[in-house]
Amino acid sequence: MKLTGREKTELFLEGIVTVILLLMLNLSIIILINQSIHTNPGLRDGIFIIKKSILIGPDHYHLWSWENIFITLMLVFDAAVVYWRLIRRYHQMQLRHIISELHYIANGHLDHRIGFKLKGNTQSVVESINALVDSVIKSMNEERAIESSKDELITNVSHDLRTPLTSILGYLGLIQDKQYKSQEDLLKFTQIAYLKAKQMKSLVDNLFEYTKVKQTGTPLSINRIDLSQMMEQLVASFELEAGKNGLQISAQGTDQPLYIEADAEKLGRVFNNLISNAIKYGKGGKHIYLTCQVGQPNEAVVHVANDGPEIPKQSLNQIFERFYRVEGSRNKDTGGSGLGLAIAQSIVDLHGGYIAVTSENQLTTFAVHLPFKHGDRLSRPDDLK
Ligand code: ADP
Repeated sequence: MKLTGREKTELFLEGIVTVILLLMLNLSIIILINQSIHTNPGLRDGIFIIKKSILIGPDHYHLWSWENIFITLMLVFDAAVVYWRLIRRYHQMQLRHIISELHYIANGHLDHRIGFKLKGNTQSVVESINALVDSVIKSMNEERAIESSKDELITNVSHDLRTPLTSILGYLGLIQDKQYKSQEDLLKFTQIAYLKAKQMKSLVDNLFEYTKVKQTGTPLSINRIDLSQMMEQLVASFELEAGKNGLQISAQGTDQPLYIEADAEKLGRVFNNLISNAIKYGKGGKHIYLTCQVGQPNEAVVHVANDGPEIPKQSLNQIFERFYRVEGSRNKDTGGSGLGLAIAQSIVDLHGGYIAVTSENQLTTFAVHLPFKHGDRLSRPDDLK
């Protein structure tokens, strides 16, 4: 820390004043002692006896010049007092510097940090202040990011609700104004309005689900689940829908049951979303393959794969973002909200796992990695980050 000219003068004057005060004190002590010795013969004799009886060193010197020793001791004491007063004043100055730096930061210069180095405990105070400012800035930025992500969520939801709502109002308006030519037209308009209303409901449901799983501390109802058996059940429940879309769905589990600790309902939601996507976006393909196996020693891996159009490379690391839809899916009438994968990822994350996606050679594969034990957390490999 650099002292200003004024502070240096202040220190200098403090030293001078202390020295003068101490010299006056020393002088008065010496005068007092001398006076007491001269006016008190008993004391003088006592001092003489003490001087005679004290012998110093192997050669037994007498302590005749006690005044010199007394003066030396007083000078040492004086030096200590001067040092103590100067150090105390210097610490006050350091504190003043720290406070003025704090005022500067508090006045909005949030990227400023206390730059000077001090000795001892004061340096740890400076470091703590800098660390405190860093963490305040970090949480302010996080707060801002959350705020803008909420705004973005509201904008997206309003947009996605307004589109079907506009068409519902349009078709209901046509019906109300009797602007239809035949009974078939009337039925068609009602059907479109109904479909759009269903789309709105699905968006609201997804949104509700998304905010629910995104909340911190979402409770999980953990049970022991056999993933092999779950795959079989999923095949049975999607067989018909896949068939209608010209797709064949099959599962390949392990010979033995593959148990993990998980929330069956929430995990079901993950696989439902992945399989529904495989049906929706796998048009032109023929198969949906479900497999489950042991991955790393502490994890189970479920693959949901479908042949059909690939996801463009540049979209692969964005498809888990909420409301993200690959260009083309937006225009097609697949009725998606862009929340399905975000929900799936949040649920898998709640279980301590992660999802990875690959899309090449006409095969799109979602790999869901889950720890066997509830409470364990798998770390996503670096090449997937
Ligand atoms: P959506 O409600 O649009 O289905 P998702 O979050 O489930 O939202 O999916 C995001 C986007 O990822 C989809 O719009 C789609 O473009 C793409 N996608 C997801 N699964 C597949 C898949 N199996 N094959 C091809 N594209 C997919």
